[in-house]
Amino acid sequence: MTLGKCITFAGQIKKNHATMFKVFKFGGASVKDAAAIKNLKKILSKPSDERLVIVVSAMGKTTNALEKILEAARNHSSDFTPLFDALKVFHYHICSELFETPPLSLFSQLEDIFQKLYFQLSISPDSIPYDEHYDQTVSFGELLATKIVSHYLIQENLSLKLVDARACLITDNCYRAASINWPQTCDAISTLKEQTTEKMILTQGFIGIANNGRTTTLGREGSDFSAAIFAHCLNASEVVIWKDVPGLLNGDPKRFSVTQKIDHISYSEAIELAFYGATVIHPKTIKPLQNKSIPLKVQSFNDPELSPTLIDNNPDYDNVVPSFIIKDNQMLISISPRDFSFMSESNLQEAFGIFHNLRIHANLIQASAISLSICIDENPDRLEALLKSFRDKYAVKYNSGLEMLTIRHYNEKLAAEASKGREILLEQRSRITLQFVMKTIGETT
Ligand code: ASP
Ligand code: MG
Repeated sequence: MTLGKCITFAGQIKKNHATMFKVFKFGGASVKDAAAIKNLKKILSKPSDERLVIVVSAMGKTTNALEKILEAARNHSSDFTPLFDALKVFHYHICSELFETPPLSLFSQLEDIFQKLYFQLSISPDSIPYDEHYDQTVSFGELLATKIVSHYLIQENLSLKLVDARACLITDNCYRAASINWPQTCDAISTLKEQTTEKMILTQGFIGIANNGRTTTLGREGSDFSAAIFAHCLNASEVVIWKDVPGLLNGDPKRFSVTQKIDHISYSEAIELAFYGATVIHPKTIKPLQNKSIPLKVQSFNDPELSPTLIDNNPDYDNVVPSFIIKDNQMLISISPRDFSFMSESNLQEAFGIFHNLRIHANLIQASAISLSICIDENPDRLEALLKSFRDKYAVKYNSGLEMLTIRHYNEKLAAEASKGREILLEQRSRITLQFVMKTIGETT
Protein backbone atom coordinates (compact mmCIF):
# COMPACT_ATOMS: atom_id res chain seq x y z
CA MET A 1 0.00 0.00 0.00
CA THR A 2 1.29 3.46 -0.81
CA LEU A 3 1.72 5.75 2.12
CA GLY A 4 0.46 9.27 1.46
CA LYS A 5 -2.82 8.30 -0.19
CA CYS A 6 -4.26 6.49 2.82
CA ILE A 7 -3.01 5.05 6.07
CA THR A 8 -4.27 1.98 7.88
CA PHE A 9 -5.20 2.86 11.42
CA ALA A 10 -6.60 0.37 13.94
CA GLY A 11 -8.09 -1.69 11.15
CA GLN A 12 -9.76 1.29 9.45
CA ILE A 13 -8.76 3.08 6.25
CA LYS A 14 -8.46 6.73 7.13
CA LYS A 15 -8.04 9.57 4.73
CA ASN A 16 -4.69 11.22 5.11
CA HIS A 17 -5.38 14.91 5.63
CA ALA A 18 -2.22 15.97 3.86
CA THR A 19 -3.77 14.80 0.62
CA MET A 20 -7.20 16.34 1.20
CA PHE A 21 -8.41 19.64 -0.09
CA LYS A 22 -10.60 22.31 1.37
CA VAL A 23 -12.12 24.90 -0.95
CA PHE A 24 -12.30 28.56 0.08
CA LYS A 25 -14.32 31.08 -1.89
CA PHE A 26 -13.73 34.81 -1.57
CA GLY A 27 -16.33 37.06 -3.19
CA GLY A 28 -15.91 40.56 -4.58
CA ALA A 29 -16.22 42.23 -1.16
CA SER A 30 -13.35 40.11 0.21
CA VAL A 31 -10.95 41.46 -2.42
CA LYS A 32 -12.41 44.94 -2.82
CA ASP A 33 -9.30 46.82 -1.64
CA ALA A 34 -5.77 46.31 -0.33
CA ALA A 35 -6.94 45.97 3.30
CA ALA A 36 -9.35 43.17 2.33
CA ILE A 37 -6.61 41.32 0.41
CA LYS A 38 -4.29 41.60 3.42
CA ASN A 39 -7.07 40.15 5.57
CA LEU A 40 -7.48 37.32 3.08
CA LYS A 41 -3.78 36.58 3.44
CA LYS A 42 -4.17 36.41 7.20
CA ILE A 43 -6.96 33.87 6.84
CA LEU A 44 -4.87 31.75 4.47
CA SER A 45 -1.85 31.89 6.75
CA LYS A 46 -3.55 29.99 9.57
CA PRO A 47 -1.69 26.71 10.06
CA SER A 48 -3.48 23.75 8.48
CA ASP A 49 -2.49 20.32 7.20
CA GLU A 50 -5.00 20.43 4.40
CA ARG A 51 -4.39 21.71 0.93
CA LEU A 52 -6.52 24.50 -0.42
CA VAL A 53 -8.26 25.57 -3.60
CA ILE A 54 -9.00 29.28 -3.37
CA VAL A 55 -11.71 30.60 -5.68
CA VAL A 56 -11.72 34.36 -6.15
CA SER A 57 -14.31 36.69 -7.76
CA ALA A 58 -13.78 40.03 -9.44
CA MET A 59 -12.75 42.88 -7.11
CA GLY A 60 -15.56 44.87 -5.49
CA LYS A 61 -18.14 45.96 -8.08
CA THR A 62 -15.92 45.19 -11.09
CA THR A 63 -18.45 42.87 -12.76
CA ASN A 64 -21.08 45.63 -12.72
CA ALA A 65 -18.50 48.06 -14.09
CA LEU A 66 -17.57 45.67 -16.91
CA GLU A 67 -21.25 45.25 -17.81
CA LYS A 68 -21.52 49.03 -18.17
CA ILE A 69 -18.30 49.23 -20.21
CA LEU A 70 -19.57 46.54 -22.56
CA GLU A 71 -22.88 48.36 -22.95
CA ALA A 72 -21.03 51.53 -23.88
CA ALA A 73 -18.73 49.63 -26.23
CA ARG A 74 -21.64 48.07 -28.08
CA ASN A 75 -23.47 51.38 -28.36
CA HIS A 76 -22.11 53.09 -31.49
CA SER A 77 -22.85 56.53 -30.15
CA SER A 78 -20.96 56.30 -26.85
CA ASP A 79 -17.31 56.12 -25.87
CA PHE A 80 -16.29 53.34 -23.49
CA THR A 81 -12.75 54.59 -22.83
CA PRO A 82 -13.46 56.80 -19.77
CA LEU A 83 -15.12 53.85 -18.00
CA PHE A 84 -12.33 51.53 -19.14
CA ASP A 85 -9.71 53.94 -17.78
CA ALA A 86 -11.54 54.18 -14.46
CA LEU A 87 -11.46 50.39 -14.12
CA LYS A 88 -7.73 50.45 -14.79
CA VAL A 89 -7.16 53.15 -12.18
CA PHE A 90 -9.20 51.15 -9.63
CA HIS A 91 -7.02 48.05 -10.08
CA TYR A 92 -3.71 49.94 -10.21
CA HIS A 93 -4.66 51.87 -7.07
CA ILE A 94 -5.17 48.59 -5.18
CA CYS A 95 -1.73 47.43 -6.39
CA SER A 96 -0.10 50.66 -5.26
CA GLU A 97 -1.50 50.12 -1.76
CA LEU A 98 -0.66 46.43 -1.69
CA PHE A 99 2.99 46.56 -2.76
CA GLU A 100 5.66 48.79 -1.28
CA THR A 101 7.81 48.67 -4.39
CA PRO A 102 5.96 48.51 -7.69
CA PRO A 103 6.22 44.92 -8.95
CA LEU A 104 7.17 45.55 -12.57
CA SER A 105 6.45 42.05 -13.81
CA LEU A 106 2.92 42.26 -12.37
CA PHE A 107 2.33 45.63 -14.01
CA SER A 108 3.40 44.36 -17.40
CA GLN A 109 1.11 41.32 -17.02
CA LEU A 110 -1.80 43.56 -16.01
CA GLU A 111 -1.10 45.83 -18.96
CA ASP A 112 -1.27 42.79 -21.19
CA ILE A 113 -4.65 41.76 -19.69
CA PHE A 114 -6.05 45.27 -20.15
CA GLN A 115 -4.89 45.29 -23.77
CA LYS A 116 -6.71 42.02 -24.39
CA LEU A 117 -9.84 43.42 -22.74
CA TYR A 118 -9.59 46.55 -24.91
CA PHE A 119 -9.31 44.37 -27.98
CA GLN A 120 -12.47 42.44 -27.04
CA LEU A 121 -14.37 45.66 -26.39
CA SER A 122 -13.37 46.98 -29.80
CA ILE A 123 -15.03 44.11 -31.63
CA SER A 124 -18.02 45.31 -33.61
CA PRO A 125 -21.33 44.34 -31.96
CA ASP A 126 -22.59 43.31 -35.40
CA SER A 127 -20.06 40.51 -35.57
CA ILE A 128 -20.68 38.94 -32.15
CA PRO A 129 -23.94 38.22 -30.29
CA TYR A 130 -24.38 40.03 -26.98
CA ASP A 131 -24.21 36.99 -24.69
CA GLU A 132 -21.01 35.71 -26.29
CA HIS A 133 -19.46 39.19 -26.20
CA TYR A 134 -20.48 39.46 -22.53
CA ASP A 135 -18.55 36.34 -21.53
CA GLN A 136 -15.47 37.32 -23.55
CA THR A 137 -15.28 40.68 -21.73
CA VAL A 138 -16.89 40.41 -18.29
CA SER A 139 -14.65 37.42 -17.46
CA PHE A 140 -11.69 39.83 -17.30
CA GLY A 141 -12.80 40.95 -13.82
CA GLU A 142 -11.86 37.55 -12.39
CA LEU A 143 -8.64 37.38 -14.47
CA LEU A 144 -7.46 40.73 -13.11
CA ALA A 145 -8.39 39.92 -9.50
CA THR A 146 -6.62 36.55 -9.45
CA LYS A 147 -3.51 37.96 -11.13
CA ILE A 148 -3.15 40.65 -8.44
CA VAL A 149 -4.11 38.50 -5.44
CA SER A 150 -1.87 35.56 -6.45
CA HIS A 151 1.09 37.87 -7.05
CA TYR A 152 0.66 39.33 -3.57
CA LEU A 153 0.26 35.95 -1.83
CA ILE A 154 3.30 34.44 -3.56
CA GLN A 155 5.35 37.50 -2.61
CA GLU A 156 4.18 36.92 0.97
CA ASN A 157 5.74 33.43 0.73
CA LEU A 158 2.62 31.31 0.53
CA SER A 159 3.09 28.09 -1.42
CA LEU A 160 0.57 28.88 -4.14
CA LYS A 161 -0.02 28.38 -7.82
CA LEU A 162 -2.32 30.49 -10.00
CA VAL A 163 -4.39 28.25 -12.27
CA ASP A 164 -6.64 29.51 -15.04
CA ALA A 165 -10.12 28.10 -14.29
CA ARG A 166 -10.51 27.64 -18.04
CA ALA A 167 -8.03 24.77 -17.82
CA CYS A 168 -10.56 22.90 -15.65
CA LEU A 169 -14.14 24.12 -15.88
CA ILE A 170 -15.36 22.71 -19.17
CA THR A 171 -18.83 23.86 -20.19
CA ASP A 172 -21.26 23.95 -23.08
CA ASN A 173 -21.42 27.16 -25.10
CA CYS A 174 -24.59 28.54 -23.54
CA TYR A 175 -23.03 31.95 -22.89
CA ARG A 176 -23.91 33.72 -19.60
CA ALA A 177 -25.52 30.54 -18.22
CA ALA A 178 -23.10 27.78 -19.18
CA SER A 179 -23.67 24.21 -18.00
CA ILE A 180 -20.80 22.14 -16.70
CA ASN A 181 -19.55 19.10 -18.57
CA TRP A 182 -19.00 17.11 -15.38
CA PRO A 183 -16.90 14.17 -16.71
CA GLN A 184 -14.49 16.44 -18.58
CA THR A 185 -14.32 18.92 -15.69
CA CYS A 186 -13.65 16.27 -13.06
CA ASP A 187 -10.95 14.70 -15.26
CA ALA A 188 -9.25 18.06 -15.71
CA ILE A 189 -9.41 18.82 -11.98
CA SER A 190 -7.94 15.39 -11.11
CA THR A 191 -5.07 16.02 -13.51
CA LEU A 192 -4.51 19.43 -11.94
CA LYS A 193 -4.40 17.85 -8.49
CA GLU A 194 -1.81 15.31 -9.59
CA GLN A 195 0.39 17.88 -11.30
CA THR A 196 0.40 20.54 -8.58
CA THR A 197 3.03 20.47 -5.88
CA GLU A 198 2.13 23.78 -4.22
CA LYS A 199 -0.04 23.62 -1.12
CA MET A 200 -2.58 26.07 -2.49
CA ILE A 201 -4.21 26.54 -5.87
CA LEU A 202 -5.78 29.91 -6.62
CA THR A 203 -8.26 30.22 -9.44
CA GLN A 204 -11.11 32.32 -10.82
CA GLY A 205 -14.75 31.82 -9.94
CA PHE A 206 -17.56 32.40 -12.43
CA ILE A 207 -15.66 31.51 -15.63
CA GLY A 208 -15.18 28.37 -17.69
CA ILE A 209 -14.41 27.31 -21.22
CA ALA A 210 -16.56 25.74 -23.93
CA ASN A 211 -15.29 22.93 -26.11
CA ASN A 212 -15.02 25.48 -28.95
CA GLY A 213 -12.32 27.28 -26.94
CA ARG A 214 -14.47 30.31 -26.07
CA THR A 215 -14.71 31.68 -22.54
CA THR A 216 -18.05 31.15 -20.82
CA THR A 217 -19.59 32.32 -17.54
CA LEU A 218 -21.86 30.50 -15.13
CA GLY A 219 -24.31 33.33 -14.40
CA ARG A 220 -24.03 36.30 -12.02
CA GLU A 221 -22.70 35.41 -8.58
CA GLY A 222 -21.58 32.09 -10.04
CA SER A 223 -18.30 31.87 -8.09
CA ASP A 224 -20.01 29.97 -5.27
CA PHE A 225 -20.95 27.37 -7.85
CA SER A 226 -17.33 27.26 -9.13
CA ALA A 227 -16.19 26.50 -5.58
CA ALA A 228 -18.73 23.68 -5.32
CA ILE A 229 -17.57 22.22 -8.65
CA PHE A 230 -13.93 22.10 -7.50
CA ALA A 231 -14.99 20.60 -4.17
CA HIS A 232 -17.14 17.95 -5.84
CA CYS A 233 -14.42 16.87 -8.26
CA LEU A 234 -11.71 16.87 -5.56
CA ASN A 235 -13.88 15.12 -2.93
CA ALA A 236 -12.96 18.05 -0.72
CA SER A 237 -13.40 17.90 3.05
CA GLU A 238 -15.39 21.16 3.12
CA VAL A 239 -16.18 24.41 1.33
CA VAL A 240 -16.00 27.76 3.10
CA ILE A 241 -17.67 30.80 1.55
CA TRP A 242 -16.14 33.87 3.18
CA LYS A 243 -18.68 36.70 3.39
CA ASP A 244 -18.99 40.23 4.71
CA VAL A 245 -21.83 39.02 6.96
CA PRO A 246 -21.50 36.84 10.10
CA GLY A 247 -22.93 33.79 8.31
CA LEU A 248 -26.22 32.88 6.70
CA LEU A 249 -28.81 35.36 8.02
CA ASN A 250 -32.56 34.75 8.25
CA GLY A 251 -33.29 37.87 6.18
CA ASP A 252 -31.54 40.47 4.07
CA PRO A 253 -30.04 43.03 6.51
CA LYS A 254 -30.74 45.73 3.92
CA ARG A 255 -34.47 44.96 4.24
CA PHE A 256 -34.94 43.91 7.86
CA SER A 257 -33.77 45.97 10.83
CA VAL A 258 -33.28 42.86 12.97
CA THR A 259 -31.76 39.72 11.53
CA GLN A 260 -30.58 36.53 13.15
CA LYS A 261 -27.74 34.21 12.19
CA ILE A 262 -28.68 30.67 11.22
CA ASP A 263 -26.19 28.31 12.90
CA HIS A 264 -27.00 25.09 11.11
CA ILE A 265 -29.36 24.00 8.33
CA SER A 266 -29.63 21.08 5.94
CA TYR A 267 -28.77 21.13 2.24
CA SER A 268 -32.48 20.73 1.44
CA GLU A 269 -33.43 23.75 3.51
CA ALA A 270 -30.67 25.80 1.84
CA ILE A 271 -32.00 24.76 -1.59
CA GLU A 272 -35.51 25.83 -0.54
CA LEU A 273 -34.24 29.23 0.63
CA ALA A 274 -32.34 29.78 -2.62
CA PHE A 275 -35.40 28.68 -4.62
CA TYR A 276 -37.59 31.29 -2.94
CA GLY A 277 -35.06 34.00 -3.74
CA ALA A 278 -32.53 34.16 -0.88
CA THR A 279 -29.45 35.52 -2.60
CA VAL A 280 -26.72 34.70 -0.14
CA ILE A 281 -25.63 31.49 -1.87
CA HIS A 282 -25.86 30.85 -5.60
CA PRO A 283 -28.69 28.29 -6.06
CA LYS A 284 -26.58 25.81 -8.03
CA THR A 285 -23.98 25.54 -5.25
CA ILE A 286 -25.70 23.06 -2.97
CA LYS A 287 -26.40 20.03 -5.19
CA PRO A 288 -22.79 19.13 -6.10
CA LEU A 289 -21.91 19.28 -2.40
CA GLN A 290 -24.98 17.40 -1.21
CA ASN A 291 -24.27 14.56 -3.66
CA LYS A 292 -20.96 13.97 -1.92
CA SER A 293 -21.97 15.06 1.60
CA ILE A 294 -19.37 17.83 1.60
CA PRO A 295 -20.17 20.35 4.36
CA LEU A 296 -20.57 23.98 3.35
CA LYS A 297 -19.71 26.77 5.77
CA VAL A 298 -20.59 30.44 5.44
CA GLN A 299 -18.06 32.33 7.51
CA SER A 300 -17.42 35.95 8.45
CA PHE A 301 -14.53 37.44 6.52
CA ASN A 302 -14.22 40.34 8.94
CA ASP A 303 -14.48 38.26 12.09
CA PRO A 304 -13.06 34.82 11.22
CA GLU A 305 -13.21 33.69 14.86
CA LEU A 306 -17.05 33.73 14.77
CA SER A 307 -18.49 30.26 14.32
CA PRO A 308 -19.77 29.85 10.76
CA THR A 309 -23.16 28.72 9.51
CA LEU A 310 -22.94 25.01 8.77
CA ILE A 311 -24.92 23.46 5.92
CA ASP A 312 -24.92 19.66 5.75
CA ASN A 313 -27.17 16.60 5.69
CA ASN A 314 -28.62 17.13 9.17
CA PRO A 315 -32.22 18.51 9.08
CA ASP A 316 -32.66 18.66 12.89
CA TYR A 317 -32.13 22.42 13.15
CA ASP A 318 -34.02 23.56 10.04
CA ASN A 319 -36.95 24.96 11.98
CA VAL A 320 -35.02 26.74 14.74
CA VAL A 321 -34.95 30.13 13.01
CA PRO A 322 -37.71 31.34 10.64
CA SER A 323 -36.40 32.88 7.39
CA PHE A 324 -37.80 35.86 5.46
CA ILE A 325 -37.23 36.34 1.76
CA ILE A 326 -38.48 39.33 -0.21
CA LYS A 327 -38.58 39.57 -3.98
CA ASP A 328 -39.26 43.05 -5.39
CA ASN A 329 -40.61 44.08 -8.77
CA GLN A 330 -43.17 41.34 -8.95
CA MET A 331 -46.16 41.16 -11.22
CA LEU A 332 -49.31 39.15 -10.59
CA ILE A 333 -51.08 37.93 -13.71
CA SER A 334 -54.53 36.31 -13.60
CA ILE A 335 -56.06 34.64 -16.61
CA SER A 336 -59.49 33.09 -17.05
CA PRO A 337 -61.06 31.45 -20.11
CA ARG A 338 -63.26 33.92 -22.02
CA ASP A 339 -65.91 31.24 -22.56
CA PHE A 340 -66.34 30.90 -18.78
CA SER A 341 -65.21 27.29 -18.90
CA PHE A 342 -63.20 25.77 -16.07
CA MET A 343 -59.47 26.14 -15.88
CA SER A 344 -59.04 22.56 -17.10
CA GLU A 345 -55.86 20.52 -17.43
CA SER A 346 -55.68 21.41 -21.10
CA ASN A 347 -56.03 25.15 -20.33
CA LEU A 348 -53.30 24.82 -17.72
CA GLN A 349 -51.08 22.99 -20.15
CA GLU A 350 -51.60 25.71 -22.73
CA ALA A 351 -50.92 28.48 -20.22
CA PHE A 352 -47.71 26.91 -18.89
CA GLY A 353 -46.61 26.25 -22.49
CA ILE A 354 -46.84 29.99 -23.16
CA PHE A 355 -44.79 30.85 -20.04
CA HIS A 356 -42.26 28.19 -20.91
CA ASN A 357 -41.87 29.38 -24.52
CA LEU A 358 -41.35 32.96 -23.39
CA ARG A 359 -38.84 31.75 -20.78
CA ILE A 360 -40.86 33.37 -17.98
CA HIS A 361 -40.39 31.68 -14.62
CA ALA A 362 -43.39 31.40 -12.30
CA ASN A 363 -42.44 32.44 -8.76
CA LEU A 364 -45.81 31.37 -7.41
CA ILE A 365 -48.80 29.61 -8.98
CA GLN A 366 -52.39 29.41 -7.78
CA ALA A 367 -55.26 27.87 -9.72
CA SER A 368 -58.97 28.13 -8.96
CA ALA A 369 -61.96 26.70 -10.85
CA ILE A 370 -62.06 29.52 -13.39
CA SER A 371 -58.73 31.31 -13.17
CA LEU A 372 -54.99 30.88 -12.92
CA SER A 373 -52.82 33.40 -11.04
CA ILE A 374 -49.09 33.52 -11.55
CA CYS A 375 -46.55 35.75 -9.87
CA ILE A 376 -43.54 36.57 -12.07
CA ASP A 377 -40.58 38.95 -12.09
CA GLU A 378 -41.57 42.15 -13.88
CA ASN A 379 -40.26 41.99 -17.40
CA PRO A 380 -41.45 44.88 -19.57
CA ASP A 381 -39.69 43.40 -22.64
CA ARG A 382 -41.76 40.23 -22.58
CA LEU A 383 -45.05 41.54 -21.18
CA GLU A 384 -46.50 42.53 -24.55
CA ALA A 385 -45.70 39.12 -26.06
CA LEU A 386 -47.23 37.44 -23.03
CA LEU A 387 -50.47 39.42 -23.18
CA LYS A 388 -50.71 38.85 -26.92
CA SER A 389 -50.39 35.09 -26.50
CA PHE A 390 -53.28 34.96 -24.03
CA ARG A 391 -55.66 37.64 -25.26
CA ASP A 392 -57.68 35.63 -27.82
CA LYS A 393 -58.87 32.93 -25.49
CA TYR A 394 -58.40 34.37 -22.04
CA ALA A 395 -59.31 37.49 -20.10
CA VAL A 396 -56.10 38.79 -18.55
CA LYS A 397 -55.68 41.06 -15.52
CA TYR A 398 -52.40 42.12 -14.03
CA ASN A 399 -50.91 44.20 -11.21
CA SER A 400 -47.32 45.35 -11.16
CA GLY A 401 -44.98 46.94 -8.61
CA LEU A 402 -45.60 44.17 -6.09
CA GLU A 403 -43.50 42.37 -3.50
CA MET A 404 -43.44 38.67 -2.84
CA LEU A 405 -42.63 37.67 0.72
CA THR A 406 -41.81 34.10 1.67
CA ILE A 407 -41.56 33.02 5.31
CA ARG A 408 -40.10 29.58 6.01
CA HIS A 409 -41.08 28.07 9.37
CA TYR A 410 -43.66 30.81 9.96
CA ASN A 411 -46.14 31.39 12.73
CA GLU A 412 -49.22 33.64 12.76
CA LYS A 413 -47.53 36.41 14.73
CA LEU A 414 -44.66 36.64 12.25
CA ALA A 415 -47.09 36.59 9.32
CA ALA A 416 -49.13 39.46 10.77
CA GLU A 417 -46.04 41.57 11.50
CA ALA A 418 -44.47 41.01 8.10
CA SER A 419 -47.59 42.01 6.18
CA LYS A 420 -48.44 45.10 8.30
CA GLY A 421 -49.23 48.13 6.15
CA ARG A 422 -49.54 45.97 3.04
CA GLU A 423 -52.50 44.85 1.00
CA ILE A 424 -52.30 41.12 0.37
CA LEU A 425 -53.29 40.21 -3.17
CA LEU A 426 -52.55 36.54 -2.93
CA GLU A 427 -51.63 34.19 -0.12
CA GLN A 428 -50.42 30.63 -0.18
CA ARG A 429 -49.41 28.43 2.73
CA SER A 430 -48.13 24.96 3.41
CA ARG A 431 -47.16 23.61 6.81
CA ILE A 432 -43.71 25.14 6.50
CA THR A 433 -43.91 27.95 3.96
CA LEU A 434 -46.11 31.03 3.84
CA GLN A 435 -46.10 33.32 0.80
CA PHE A 436 -47.74 36.69 0.29
CA VAL A 437 -47.91 38.68 -2.91
CA MET A 438 -48.57 42.18 -1.64
CA LYS A 439 -48.39 45.90 -2.25
CA THR A 440 -47.86 48.85 0.02
CA ILE A 441 -51.26 50.29 0.94
CA GLY A 442 -51.92 53.49 -0.95
CA GLU A 443 -49.75 52.57 -3.95
CA THR A 444 -51.60 52.35 -7.23
CA THR A 445 -50.62 49.77 -9.78
N1 ASP B 1 -18.00 38.46 -10.30
C1 ASP B 1 -19.20 37.74 -10.65
C2 ASP B 1 -20.41 38.55 -10.25
O1 ASP B 1 -20.26 39.56 -9.59
C3 ASP B 1 -19.23 36.37 -10.06
C4 ASP B 1 -19.35 36.31 -8.56
O2 ASP B 1 -19.10 37.32 -7.89
O3 ASP B 1 -19.67 35.27 -8.02
O4 ASP B 1 -21.50 38.17 -10.58
MG1 MG C 1 -18.80 39.43 -7.88
